[in-house]
Amino acid sequence: MRYGNRTKIMATIGPASSSPEIMEKLIHQGMDIARINLSHGRKDEQIKIVRELRKVAEKVNAPLGILLDIPGPKIRLGPLEKKIIFLKKGNLFTLTQEKISGNEEKAGVNYPEVLKRLQKGMLIYLNDGLIKLKVLKVRERDALCLIENSGEIMPGKGVNIPDFSIDSYLTAEENKKKIFFASDLKPDFLALSFVKDGGDMVEARKIIGKKNREIFLIAKIEKKEALKNIDALIEESDGIMVARGDLGIETSLEKLPILQKEIIEKCNIKGKPVIVATQILSSMVTNSLPTRAEVTDIANAVLDGTDCLMLSEETAIGKYPVEAVSTLRKVSLITEKNFPHRKYLTQRIKKDISPLEAISYSAVWTAERLNSEAIVVPTFTGETARWISKFRPKAPIFAFTYKKNILRRLNLFWGVYPIFFPLRISLEKLPAEIEAFFRKRNILKRGAKIVITGSNPMGREGKTNLVQVHQIR
Ligand code: ATP
Ligand code: MG
Ligand code: MG
Repeated sequence: MRYGNRTKIMATIGPASSSPEIMEKLIHQGMDIARINLSHGRKDEQIKIVRELRKVAEKVNAPLGILLDIPGPKIRLGPLEKKIIFLKKGNLFTLTQEKISGNEEKAGVNYPEVLKRLQKGMLIYLNDGLIKLKVLKVRERDALCLIENSGEIMPGKGVNIPDFSIDSYLTAEENKKKIFFASDLKPDFLALSFVKDGGDMVEARKIIGKKNREIFLIAKIEKKEALKNIDALIEESDGIMVARGDLGIETSLEKLPILQKEIIEKCNIKGKPVIVATQILSSMVTNSLPTRAEVTDIANAVLDGTDCLMLSEETAIGKYPVEAVSTLRKVSLITEKNFPHRKYLTQRIKKDISPLEAISYSAVWTAERLNSEAIVVPTFTGETARWISKFRPKAPIFAFTYKKNILRRLNLFWGVYPIFFPLRISLEKLPAEIEAFFRKRNILKRGAKIVITGSNPMGREGKTNLVQVHQIR
């Protein structure tokens, strides 16, 4: 059992990390959730990665969650002749409707139709905004552009044209198919790209259907409309991702820091898990050490109160996937020593709270007053652990459950360490059983005070109504 850093780590699996050996190392270094972006790679490869991940997690007995990321309407570069191509400022570059393998001079895109709508003077951004192109001339089959910012492109990289989105009819059917495909793989989480409002989430839930109700739906916030409808989106989702890549282009880079803080705070208040994504450790794609700025960004996201930090290129195609995960873990761990736990008990409390939220608050308050070393949450649905996590206790939250899917889902929540445990024991015997569990693993010392939540009568789903204190003998 691994526990330490409270902030969770999500890592994107790609060519640099799809071998079982690397997967195992990533888990060992602290990967809590593995992400597969369905925009990249072939279907058979994606299926294989999911299988491999489940196998490795089983082998090392880790509650690894799997998140499948549904692309949504995004214009992307088509195939390229080489894995990496450098575009130099001042040179010309053509975006063509033809299906070609691209090079330094031209490339195709996944939705050639949209090129017809380009106009002279428009700006186009490639690769999360790294490269800027200006349209010089629009012709019958292509658009000639000037490279205004140098940078590298790779196959499938995003093509952003601000104030210009793909017509939804081009993608609606495709989106549905992707959601079907993804839910058949039984992931723990599905992330939806470019959602606009709560309705998009409701729609996705309908598509997934009753059969897969268990899957957690994550809304990626990366559109202006999504910001406008953020409250409804949080309400209708099981979690939120601050997708800084596209969000930075759809709004503007300068706005990102404050947007990130605002979205995190809203999620914290509602007790919904939130993930901060993109360019967390970009320099580690090629270097074994991070920059000062990256380390500081991670620390700030941790202090903002994010539940999870996500790696993209770093683990998908980078040279140092394992080091990137361990860097994330180490920076979080050190930063969390200064975590503002108190703030969550005093300022993150809503006016109208449910009995479950109230009892969770009491558990965290009690643990804080007694300087408890653990909060133990036996849970059937995971809900109590979720609310306890909301109040960001100093003590680690051990969520005991016998449902494997709940275990994996809880692994996204700040400070929650999911533990497989048969819960078919009486309320009276529970403290002794829990004590035996910790003693066996040498986790808690004699005299340690632990807070245990429970329900009376036992076993009714979602009905936690007790907080008790137990001292390890
Ligand atoms: P999104 O907008 O969903 O973040 P993205 O294109 O930025 O899409 P990420 O998942 O953030 O994609 O991954 C970053 C980059 O890592 C991708 O652009 C791609 O170059 C690479 N990558 C990710 N997964 C794979 C994969 N399975 N195969 C090849 N390259 C991948
Ligand atoms: Mg990205
Ligand atoms: Mg995106």
